[in-house]
Amino acid sequence: MIVVMKKGSSADEVQYMVKRVEAMGLKAHVIEGTERTVIAAIGEKREEMKNSLESGPAVEDVLPILAPYKVASLEVKPERTEIRTGSLSVGGSSLGVMAGPCSVEDEEQILSTARAVKAAGATALRGGAFKPRTSPYSFQGLKEEGLKLLAAARDETGLAVVTEVMGTDDVGLVSRYADVLQIGARNMQNYRLLEAVGDAGLPVLLKRGPSATMDELLLAAEYVLNQGNPNVMLCERGIRTFESHTRFTLPLASVIYLHQKTHLPVVIDPSHGTGHTYMVPDMAAAAVAAGADALMLEVHPNPEQAMSDGYQSLTFDQFAETMDKCRTIAGAIGKTIG
Ligand code: PEP
Ligand code: MN
Repeated sequence: MIVVMKKGSSADEVQYMVKRVEAMGLKAHVIEGTERTVIAAIGEKREEMKNSLESGPAVEDVLPILAPYKVASLEVKPERTEIRTGSLSVGGSSLGVMAGPCSVEDEEQILSTARAVKAAGATALRGGAFKPRTSPYSFQGLKEEGLKLLAAARDETGLAVVTEVMGTDDVGLVSRYADVLQIGARNMQNYRLLEAVGDAGLPVLLKRGPSATMDELLLAAEYVLNQGNPNVMLCERGIRTFESHTRFTLPLASVIYLHQKTHLPVVIDPSHGTGHTYMVPDMAAAAVAAGADALMLEVHPNPEQAMSDGYQSLTFDQFAETMDKCRTIAGAIGKTIG
């Protein structure tokens, strides 16, 4: 249920209602909008609870939340969520661009990439130190050594670091180095991990599972939000279909759909979404046109030599050209980019 407080209700009145909600065994999330404050009361709802809450001081209305997800829903929070950490801002009028290699490989690779993507307008550096690979025989990432290299690249360039955390045991370690915790597609429904990154408090980039529905993605986000961490970005990175001309099928309609259902910002990853370098620039531009709040792009100094995902990575020059193209589209829809 949503407890809608009257305009101008005091902090004490809001707190009083939070206590009432909690006394009913429900979880209370206070969402302060520009117009008014609402309290999302999450848990099993019973009719007498609604009646009792309606009688509270400064309560305007008590409404059911129709969507299966609650805190992520636009019904609960009509204002869009804007996430800011260091150089990265996602969800406002300026687009975020998270760019970098699939995997951190060595110092020269990550530093040169960080410098190049920053010069071309990226607002964050991505790079995997813990890599979820389909085969256990593939390169698994440099782990803590990779995190240290990412932190060194941040120190030099000022770019915020986005990197994946694969297991609950690693959340503490990765949080010491990262600015944004990435939950990979394969872990979208790892609920204990979602709770752990919710507790960690850093912004979370949640990638859609290749066979997850939009509702499942939003419900996964709900696990993070429910821990009191409001900073979740949803990332469409393509789904599995019968089609084979692309690695995954990248539905840009996800941006439009999600913007209608949730206040959380939406990121598009055309690198994993297509699996082919030559498709990435145009799909990135199309994502901007569709209203995406940010892009995630794989960039490598020498894609042919990459230890993972080279076939979908942009060179430095290709990244700069992609940014130019995206900037033109962004300008046409009243946004700025990088
Ligand atoms: C990645 O970003 O390199 C990655 C592994 O992505 P996904 O989880 O979407 O496959
Ligand atoms: Mn990758």
